[in-house]
Amino acid sequence: MAGQNFMKGRRSRAHGADNEEVRSPAHAVTLARPHFTSLCVAGTLHGMTGMGAQFVVSIDLEMSWGAVHHGKPHDDRPYLREREVVEDVLGLMANHGISATWAVVGHLFLASCGGEGISPHPEIEPPRYGWLDGDWYDLDPRGTVADNPTWYGPDLVAAIRQCSTPQEIGSHSFAHIIAGDPECSREAFAADVAAAQAVATAAGLDLKSFVYPRNSIGHVDVLEDAGFTNYRRSASPPFRAGLSGLPGRILHKVRPRAAPSPSRHGSMVSIPHTYLFDPDSKNARRLGDAAWSRLVQSRLLHAIRNESLFHLWFHTHNLATNQDRAHRAMDELFGLARREIDAGRLRNSTMEELAEQWKAQVPA
Ligand SMILES: [Zn+2]
Repeated sequence: MAGQNFMKGRRSRAHGADNEEVRSPAHAVTLARPHFTSLCVAGTLHGMTGMGAQFVVSIDLEMSWGAVHHGKPHDDRPYLREREVVEDVLGLMANHGISATWAVVGHLFLASCGGEGISPHPEIEPPRYGWLDGDWYDLDPRGTVADNPTWYGPDLVAAIRQCSTPQEIGSHSFAHIIAGDPECSREAFAADVAAAQAVATAAGLDLKSFVYPRNSIGHVDVLEDAGFTNYRRSASPPFRAGLSGLPGRILHKVRPRAAPSPSRHGSMVSIPHTYLFDPDSKNARRLGDAAWSRLVQSRLLHAIRNESLFHLWFHTHNLATNQDRAHRAMDELFGLARREIDAGRLRNSTMEELAEQWKAQVPA
């Protein structure tokens, strides 16, 4: 069944491995060279063509919209904690002077929606997936932020914009639709993106960075036409594309760890994420607060040594279940990043900034 992988539980790892193992740079180089010199057209094994070490943070903010693909009513209460998470993360960013890209679901810009029609948003053509009974907007509560605070969030958008350290607001689509599913038509994705842009424009924002819901990439040309400059992708090497079944899985396991680098997709820059910050992961629970915090920092230090990209990403819900561990590790990571930035060994960029720097550095 098409799209079946999206029907897994909310906490499934379908969107990528934890990437928590640390390999030595030497290991990466010896394995990587034979395979990567021809494939890695954009970057280099060490670093990103002279851009130095980069620290990028991108955050998926979706709340209840992140569970719409399950197609049935769910308990919204866990998502209520995400407001505390946003406040805490913004506080740490302000304290340490760290900028991030917040990929916000467009519907969260709204304070309310409604109507008595069949759909609360009849002007937006929804995707029609064979695996979803009913309409994509069937679960939309058609209320207000006061009644349904996990379906609307203009206060969150305002809080991000008011952070004393400038933050980028990017898009995570309007309604968290699955763009890479073969049943998501170009028209449906274009309608969703246009709706996301409309609410952002009304708020005085020009969206440049896109994060695909469930990291499911599709219809990139729609984003290009709409004026986006970049999107996020996984760090998996390009040669796995097209290889399905066992060969693809084996190659995925034994793949060389070249330093991840942006690459070009038409006029767009695709930016790999390199580390899922998940304080509730099996690894984090096993290691405990202090050791897991050190592990996260070791990934940043690895990128600094290799002058490569450390792109930390997470959903706000990843931090909601263990906020103490999340706060401690993020505070220590941002403190380390600030010291390295001040020492001139690291640069902190938003996705939009990284895309611009990279395009200037690597001509088409
Ligand atoms: Zn709505």
